[in-house]
Amino acid sequence: MSGTLFVVATPIGNLEDMTYRAVRVLQEVSLIAAEDTRHSRKLLNHYGIGSALVSYHEHNEESRSSQLITKLKNGESVALISDAGTPCIADPGYRLVSACRQEGVAVVVVPGPSAVVAALSISGLPTDAFRFVGFLPAKTHGRCQFLEKVKEEQQTIACYEAPHRLLSCLTDIVEICGADRPLAIARELTKRHEELFSGSVGAALEYFSKGTVKGELVLLLGPAPPREPEGSVRDALLRLNEETDLSWKEIVKKVAKEFGLPGSEVYKESLELR
Ligand code: SAM
Repeated sequence: MSGTLFVVATPIGNLEDMTYRAVRVLQEVSLIAAEDTRHSRKLLNHYGIGSALVSYHEHNEESRSSQLITKLKNGESVALISDAGTPCIADPGYRLVSACRQEGVAVVVVPGPSAVVAALSISGLPTDAFRFVGFLPAKTHGRCQFLEKVKEEQQTIACYEAPHRLLSCLTDIVEICGADRPLAIARELTKRHEELFSGSVGAALEYFSKGTVKGELVLLLGPAPPREPEGSVRDALLRLNEETDLSWKEIVKKVAKEFGLPGSEVYKESLELR
């Protein structure tokens, strides 16, 4: 019988955000794979967890994964943790989880904090749909190219950003997406200096330019304003009928929403085309 890989979330700042289950699982496994063993030892000591630790980080992911898979296949249970938050979310772990799946080793989640979800939940920006893009490209050229691609997105864009890059990043967002675009910045979540800035990109640039930006950040860019519909209602109905598999009912609903018209009006027009 193979052992189990437990993917265990740990606090993103406040040690009290550890779950009872996370503590129990970390106590019970024979080995904990941690991004930085010295960093994690502090958390484990705080909870009296004495399980053995082994390093698992971006530079040894491949070799360590195969060693861990061997142990798992021999029946040992292993927990994977990262420095903070949920492993595999802008953190190492993907290779190990993927290898376990391929080898038929059970993978069990022990969920808990993740900075991106924590930030979204208090941002006041739409969260019905969002896109998480990890860290933005570090240099202006790459960042602007990336922003060009996402500037029309009708959903919140969430990313992690280093404090020393925040001002240049905001400057690029003003340039590409405009100063009025809604934005939230969550700083030092769950820690003493927790802060949530909410406003426009331009206002954020002004606010954060006042001093040195410190701490850990999640940046949330609000959705682009709805696009102005192009062409006539008739054209839109015909185009959707030709280019999609949608039913007439769905087409009417979509076009009515796009043009901000009552469904009955668009329905009448659709009848002439069917
Ligand atoms: N796996 C982690 C998670 O689930 O949240 C994220 C790891 S990523 C390498 C680290 C980045 O997450 C930081 O650079 C920062 O952008 C963000 N972050 C982590 N803790 C945070 C906190 N307490 N407040 C705001 N952002 C945080």
